[in-house]
Amino acid sequence: MKLLRYGEKGQEKPGLLDAQGQIRDLSGHIDDIAGQAITAERLATLQRLDPTSLPVVTGSPRIGPCVGRVGKFICIGLNYADHAAESGLDVPKEPVVFNKWTSAICGPNDNVEIPRGSIKTDWEVELGVVIGKAGRYIDEANAMDHVAGYCVINDVSEREWQIERGGTWDKGKGFDTFGPLGPWLVTKDEIADPHALDLWLEVDGKRYQNGNTRTMVFKVPELIAYLSRCMSLQPGDVISTGTPPGVGLGIKPEPIYLKPGQEMRLGIAGLGEQKQRTVQAD
Ligand code: ZN
Repeated sequence: MKLLRYGEKGQEKPGLLDAQGQIRDLSGHIDDIAGQAITAERLATLQRLDPTSLPVVTGSPRIGPCVGRVGKFICIGLNYADHAAESGLDVPKEPVVFNKWTSAICGPNDNVEIPRGSIKTDWEVELGVVIGKAGRYIDEANAMDHVAGYCVINDVSEREWQIERGGTWDKGKGFDTFGPLGPWLVTKDEIADPHALDLWLEVDGKRYQNGNTRTMVFKVPELIAYLSRCMSLQPGDVISTGTPPGVGLGIKPEPIYLKPGQEMRLGIAGLGEQKQRTVQAD
């Protein structure tokens, strides 16, 4: 299933994308694509619905972030060997873990704000893993039981605040609009192998990132097991699993960063596409 949230910001309704690409209204069945509504049992109930029995949503509503009420937005850094190399850093021995504030989350096609004073705002296409079952001290062998599904994430990053201003990466990662999620939460039954997905990103039609999740250093089950030793995971938590090469920071001889008025397009095979316009934060 491809689950989504549509409507005005903060008032999104739950929906399902049918086989014809139409949005069907799920609000008669669940209150939101969030928390306890995306456990395996609840998803199985939705799976049994006949999509043609659900009201068709007409027009072209805004698509919201595909998960609501995200509790934790956890990110993994330097998780592609070739991206670590372009960043001038060694492949980490253990996962690099950082946060994006949940207030950074936005819809997949919403505008992305360049923060005031920023000249180093950058892009990162990433595979998002959405947790559907709570747990801690999860064994790698059972880790996939905790996955509800996957989505596209743009881990938008302000490199000066991330790298040059001391302290943690979190400062440069969590600006408002730095976390487009979606368009869909694709349930895991639709993705045979999360480690064989092409992912790409373009700015103004020029392709900068072209990767495949097979080159991830720490795979999804390892990441879930690892994180669950540091924290409990809850349904609706989102893990962004790192970016392949081709970010602006890594471009030679000089990095290239985003300016207002540009367009980012990014996607992952089977998970859909995002499109954002960059605007100056006012
Ligand atoms: Zn990232």
